[in-house]
Amino acid sequence: MSEQALQILKTVFGYDEFRSHQSAIIENILKRNDTLAIMPTGGGKSICYQIPALIFPGLTLVISPLISLMEDQVNQLQALGIPAALLNSTLSSREYLETLGNVQKGTIKLLYMAPETLMLERTRQLLDSIHLDCLTIDEAHCISEWGHDFRPEYRQLAGLRQQFPNAVCVALTATATPQVQQDIKNSLQMADSNEFIASFNRTNLFLEVIEKQNPVVQTLRLIEKYPNQSGIIYCNSRRQVDELTAVLAGHNCSVAAYHAGLTNDERAANQSAFIRDDIQIIVATIAFGMGINKPNVRFVLHFDMPRNIESYYQQIGRAGRDGLPAYCHFLFGYGDIQKVKFFINQKSESEQRIANLHLNTLIAFAEAEECRRIPLLHYFGEHYTLENCQLCDNCLSEKQPLCNVTVPAQKFLSCIYRTGQLFGAAYLIDVLRGSKAKKVLERQHDQLPTYGIGTELTKPQWQQLSRKLLQENLIIQDQEFGSLKLTEAARTVLKGERQIEIRLTQRPEFTGKSKTAAEQQTQLDYNHTLFHTLRACRKVLADQENVPPYIIFSDKSLMEMATWFPQSKESLLQINGVGQVKLDHYGDAFLDEITRFCSEHQIAEIARPSRTVPLSSSVEKKVASGRHIEIGELFTRLGCLDQMQSDLNIKLSTTLSHLYKYQSDVAQLPTTDAFICKSSLAPDQQDRVMAAMAIHGTERLRPVFEELRGEISYDELHLLRLHYLTHR
Ligand code: ADP
Ligand code: ZN
Repeated sequence: MSEQALQILKTVFGYDEFRSHQSAIIENILKRNDTLAIMPTGGGKSICYQIPALIFPGLTLVISPLISLMEDQVNQLQALGIPAALLNSTLSSREYLETLGNVQKGTIKLLYMAPETLMLERTRQLLDSIHLDCLTIDEAHCISEWGHDFRPEYRQLAGLRQQFPNAVCVALTATATPQVQQDIKNSLQMADSNEFIASFNRTNLFLEVIEKQNPVVQTLRLIEKYPNQSGIIYCNSRRQVDELTAVLAGHNCSVAAYHAGLTNDERAANQSAFIRDDIQIIVATIAFGMGINKPNVRFVLHFDMPRNIESYYQQIGRAGRDGLPAYCHFLFGYGDIQKVKFFINQKSESEQRIANLHLNTLIAFAEAEECRRIPLLHYFGEHYTLENCQLCDNCLSEKQPLCNVTVPAQKFLSCIYRTGQLFGAAYLIDVLRGSKAKKVLERQHDQLPTYGIGTELTKPQWQQLSRKLLQENLIIQDQEFGSLKLTEAARTVLKGERQIEIRLTQRPEFTGKSKTAAEQQTQLDYNHTLFHTLRACRKVLADQENVPPYIIFSDKSLMEMATWFPQSKESLLQINGVGQVKLDHYGDAFLDEITRFCSEHQIAEIARPSRTVPLSSSVEKKVASGRHIEIGELFTRLGCLDQMQSDLNIKLSTTLSHLYKYQSDVAQLPTTDAFICKSSLAPDQQDRVMAAMAIHGTERLRPVFEELRGEISYDELHLLRLHYLTHR
């Protein structure tokens, strides 16, 4: 593996090691071989082109279909101190020209744009004038008409690729169907040998299918398991979304709705509140999810049936992108099948055939008694071989012995016959179990010989038997009304010529299994109080900077901090996801919280198994530790923050971190009013900050922050610290 790439992974991104396929992909790109990378959501595709982008001398152009995703990427990169920018139509002409200038000067390493922007004449001119090293096509399935998200503008990328024969082309997607893969390769003229396909098995997702009985109560019980955590609940209709949102809100859940019936502003506000951890749960139709990069979604609940297995996979894929355990609960009801079938019946005949095929695959997944990963991955052409995945309801349930249920089956079939083949399973079960419900008595079904003869099985077990009879084609269900009817084959069972065996589940009425699984999984050994304190600290910083909290640090980083209690910059740097720039920028705030917590609770730091970062190599100088030198020298020369901003295209806050590091480690900055000019505080407030710095020093800002009773933001303190230091 390229030493340089590993260095960047550690010093810039703060990660210990590459995930499966990442290093092979990066190596292939660095050899300038065109590369197609297929990885599931959360697999870590971005790093595959971002690291080469930092190594290549010229520009990496990234084409991506959604502005929100590009903005998120650019924010994340900037927080890591990587010069990245986005060119799109929403930029003001000043911003546009500024970015353009920076690209031409070569100060930007990664430039994101939508394919529409690419078509503009002025963009073409820009590209003609620069040195392009890498052309990355994100969401590359958009190029294929077979894909679920075909975008005609993507078609012109083939032409763009020819325009830059010397740039290496990288295509990335999470779509697994072979037809789409072939289409991408053909369009971009890629060789098979340069294709990397990661497994679609998301090993941190717990899968569970629950029989839908009383979905609202089931939902309330499920979400109780995720206090203060983020989750998505998918429903099939806007009405259902609104109803469920109202019920959950009535139960004091932190919840908002998302569907196409809301105004653009409402949708954007609800989505943003979810991403920023202002609300915990979003109840949504399938309209929600594209363009969401939130890594800490802890559960996805399907309140209704997804359209097919591919949408199911795509939707559960939004859980657990951070690699921590996440839970997928699917409320599966036979009534829902009827609804989907009703919609399918409206389609043309050929579409109906395909839709039915897809529906059946989904039903087979839901009804599977084997590991859920077998049918799920089979759909994507993968053969799952592990005997017990430990992460699905079926693998975790104790295998019940096969039970001969021929006699109950005969009772069920005969009950269908005697009630005139007009009713669904729920009603038949009521009759069999001797229900005194009005509907049963009114029809005088309490007079039937099959009334009350079925107490040997519980309701869910009768449901299970009814499903088995459907699977075995002994009965069929009316597509419109849901009533069950006997087939010819039922006769063999009624006559006792055929035996029926199933593994009767002993499930409690509502699922109890995932609770144990969830408990097992989340028992990561971290201090929950400190974790919540750190989350609160992160939220304050995120709101100040107007970014989602995960841009600052992931939950995983905070959990690690709450596990190892790092109390110095060196040990904080060992934490997963803490790279040099984030350390410089946010280190103080988090170290202060940790140190205070540890001294209050008399906890000592624990040495984290080390991420050995090789010392000073050329990359480290160039990408991480060298950046502050470059910036410090530039500032010494220019003496103007605004010009630096536009030249470097990094945030003011990042610039300030670099300058502080330069001032502390390298050389004194010139005396300047450049910092105080940027401050929006009143002069007397500025004086109070200076006085507090004189007392507490400038190495840590927390004491200053507290001295001023938290009234002055950290952004101001960062600015004024540099003013203070340049005026000593
Ligand atoms: P994808 O685009 O494939 O859905 P991302 O590139 O967004 O996935 O990566 C998902 C998450 O995993 C991100 O938070 C990313 O920073 C993290 N990640 C990627 N590679 C690694 C790695 N080698 N070690 C730890 N975390 C990683
Ligand atoms: Zn399993």
